[in-house]
Amino acid sequence: MNQPTLTEIAAGLEGYDPNAVSVTQAQRIIQDFVKPIHGMELIPIREALGRVLAADVVSPISVPAHDNSAMDGFAFHGSDLVAGAATTLTVIGTAFAGRSFDGAVGAGQCVRIMTGAVMPADCDTVVPQELTQAASDTAITIPPNTLQTGDNRRKKGEDLMEGQPALTRGRVLRPADLGLLASLGIAEVAVQRRLKVAFFSTGDELRSLGEPLDPGCIFDSNRYTLLGMLTRLGCELIDMGVVKDDADSLEAALRSACENADAVITSGGVSVGEADYTKPIMAKLGDVTFWKIGMRPGRPLAFGTIASNGKKAYLFGLPGNPVAVMVTFYFFARDALLRMMGARENPLPQLRATSLADIRKKPGRTEYQRGILSTDGQGQPVVRITGSQGSGVLRSMSEANCMVVLHHQQGSVRAGEAVDVVLFDGLT
Ligand code: AMP
Ligand code: MG
Repeated sequence: MNQPTLTEIAAGLEGYDPNAVSVTQAQRIIQDFVKPIHGMELIPIREALGRVLAADVVSPISVPAHDNSAMDGFAFHGSDLVAGAATTLTVIGTAFAGRSFDGAVGAGQCVRIMTGAVMPADCDTVVPQELTQAASDTAITIPPNTLQTGDNRRKKGEDLMEGQPALTRGRVLRPADLGLLASLGIAEVAVQRRLKVAFFSTGDELRSLGEPLDPGCIFDSNRYTLLGMLTRLGCELIDMGVVKDDADSLEAALRSACENADAVITSGGVSVGEADYTKPIMAKLGDVTFWKIGMRPGRPLAFGTIASNGKKAYLFGLPGNPVAVMVTFYFFARDALLRMMGARENPLPQLRATSLADIRKKPGRTEYQRGILSTDGQGQPVVRITGSQGSGVLRSMSEANCMVVLHHQQGSVRAGEAVDVVLFDGLT
């Protein structure tokens, strides 16, 4: 694999400066750098939710397999319709869903038909029951100008034609896709193997759950936020716990992580004071860049690859601040992990919403504010910023259901203006 180094990729970007990278530059570099992993497995569709399709699924059958009725009513030849006058037809039999009418239907005749039943040979039109007038026990009358030839008939292959791709490679399978696969009689699909992600927290002040909280210490929350975000993406997790702020522990943890995983995510240790000791270790193990990104929160970020004993992994060194962890995960790591998983682009849902209050913002950096999205009396989307934006406030992150994205060039926002909003709880 002759892949360009990060430096080579970055060199192609105009005005690149690792100490002043814009969000979009960093996103571009990361997306150019990461490559999908190899390996697939065949699994039953009942286990395939959220997995990434490894190959196109070609429809082995047409769905529906035959022309059929969209309504309960009577099937007949559209050519029998009398222009501008009532049409009377003789009822000669019944077609049920799953039990077709196999006789011939002549001119002036019709067959009672149920929704989903196969259209009798040559019939092309269905009059819904409620539009007919009973002429007698065995005849119906269709009032003038109520129907056209072809009405209420579902055509063979309308959903899918045999031989057409039903789902394409790279799709993250959703509930409707499982139903679609089942409708084609497909019981197993080829999916990409799960992406293995090792993650740990760094910091002498961190205590794991169950440990006593010594003075000046805090519980390690980032590992749980990461666990949640990675689980949602469908990754296979390797939780490596808390790693102390010392060079040997960090090197050992990074080596073990990259020997066992495709990607490594750390939190903490990349801010200005701490990068002094993490940088040389990461540099020793691979091709890692330390960025200062023009954003808030989440300014420091380390990204690249590390290697140990012939094994290589992508590395995301996220900041320690709990809100910054979420922001940098969603806006940098998520897309990259999806790409590694072999998934097609699968962006978080973004929409425009009216800001309910003024928001102060300086042009020249991207700001992410925790927001609460709702609808106003007219059903239009409106957003308000959660109370405290102090960057370590996890409670506000928990209250928020979206991020208000204030772009690089954007200045302050006035109440009533529209802003971009990204939802964390996507549709997938
Ligand atoms: P750092 O990036 O390591 O300098 O950490 C920045 C801030 O985030 C400090 O206040 C840390 O105590 C806090 N922090 C770092 N890691 C975690 C963690 N795993 N859980 C909760 N807070 C953390
Ligand atoms: Mg730290």
